[in-house]
Amino acid sequence: MIIGIPKEIKTLENRVAMTPAAVESLIRQGNDVLVEAGAGVGSGLADEEYTAAGAKMVSAQDAWGAEMVIKVKEPLESEFKYLREGLLLFTYLHLAAAEGLTKALLESGTTGIAYETIQSPDRTLPLLTPMSEVAGRMATQVGAHYLEKTQGGRGILLGGVPGVMPAEVLVLGGGVVGTNAARMAMGMGARVTILDLSHQRLQYLDDVFQGRITTMMSTEPNIRQMVQKADLVIGGVLLPGAKAPKLITRDMLSLMKEGSVIVDVAVDQGGCIETTKATTHDNPTYVIDGVVHYGVANMPGAVPRTSTFALVNQTTPYAMRLAAKGVAALKDDPGLALGLNTYQGTLTCPAVGEALGIDA
Ligand code: NAD
Repeated sequence: MIIGIPKEIKTLENRVAMTPAAVESLIRQGNDVLVEAGAGVGSGLADEEYTAAGAKMVSAQDAWGAEMVIKVKEPLESEFKYLREGLLLFTYLHLAAAEGLTKALLESGTTGIAYETIQSPDRTLPLLTPMSEVAGRMATQVGAHYLEKTQGGRGILLGGVPGVMPAEVLVLGGGVVGTNAARMAMGMGARVTILDLSHQRLQYLDDVFQGRITTMMSTEPNIRQMVQKADLVIGGVLLPGAKAPKLITRDMLSLMKEGSVIVDVAVDQGGCIETTKATTHDNPTYVIDGVVHYGVANMPGAVPRTSTFALVNQTTPYAMRLAAKGVAALKDDPGLALGLNTYQGTLTCPAVGEALGIDA
């Protein structure tokens, strides 16, 4: 199959859909890979590395002319002209919030396979997990930074020093984001408490961290008690498909210490803190009631090199199966089949149909 890797054109998007090593695997499988010149530069991957792997460096138009196009972000309007019948597009699509793109995919007859709706046999989302791992680990790093006095924080070192107490970190939600955030905070020497609603999840966390972090059931009184102690709060709650519940309400904010920091990773689902609003890497924080809020919705974008490798590790096996069999690969794997969002002008993802009011 001929596979195209266009350069990402979304503002401040520096990830790339395939690394040179992944390209080499696709070529060894018998495919031709066309990479747009400069596609890997934002992730520190030079054109020469791709050509050494066997790729041909081409224009955007030629990369998009391939039979299968692998991307990171959804096509932007200026890319709609490349959509067409017979094109297999493998990327993050997030169609439930993108009516224009959904129509463009349907009208053009493009086959759209979305990273975010593919499932593993255990019903987890294997192509979303790597970005939650990145965001969770980054949340602690970002929180430690904003706790510095010059950044508006309390002037606290996360790990303390011998003879001085470390910071208190409160993690809301013990899923992928929460577990990774807690691991980093614990590693930096902070005192960490994780709240979750799932007893099973709390048991798991207690087990893996062997008592080195505290677990608590996520109830209103527990949250109210813990926000008063916290120097750093990390929000990582998810109710799949729904808006995040507001666990820290506006009135609870006044209980928090002056200069404490909130990093609400769940901001892309509306945030789990009532005062959260989406921010960008250019202007990531704002202060309410003396509490520094960080609400960047695409945190992995700040570390594109790590994020590219983390994503490609997970996408490559699927890309290879699609390259080998085309759409027929979906018949072998019901989890991969759940990735199919658009096919020959029909919407094939019921959740997207429901969100947009289109039959699926
Ligand atoms: P996950 O499903 O792995 O974990 C969510 C956890 O929240 C689960 O353990 C669940 O039991 C728990 N939970 C649900 N309701 C709760 C409640 N009321 N109190 C406490 N815990 C509760 O999800 P994840 O992969 O960790 O993602 C978390 C959020 O982070 C999602 O909204 C995701 O989209 C977002 N995210 C944001 C970025 C970013 O750049 N901002 C990057 C990646 C992920």
